[in-house]
Amino acid sequence: MKIIADRGLCASAGMCALTDPEHFDQDEEDGRVVLLADEAEDCDTDVEDAVRLCPSGALRLDR
Ligand code: SF4
Repeated sequence: MKIIADRGLCASAGMCALTDPEHFDQDEEDGRVVLLADEAEDCDTDVEDAVRLCPSGALRLDR
């Protein structure tokens, strides 16, 4: 599945990088999400948790 991040919506909360550091990091300057990879396995629950926990709705999965 494809991971889509909208940096315009990102509130720099960092939950994604804490929950799934394999796919998400934060920009060193503004703290906004940086995608380390934009594809994830269908069975990857960490990426699903990260998307669910994002407080600003900046992340979604395209299956
Ligand atoms: S959890 Fe959401 S708001 Fe927080 S850094 Fe990640 S994408 Fe941005």
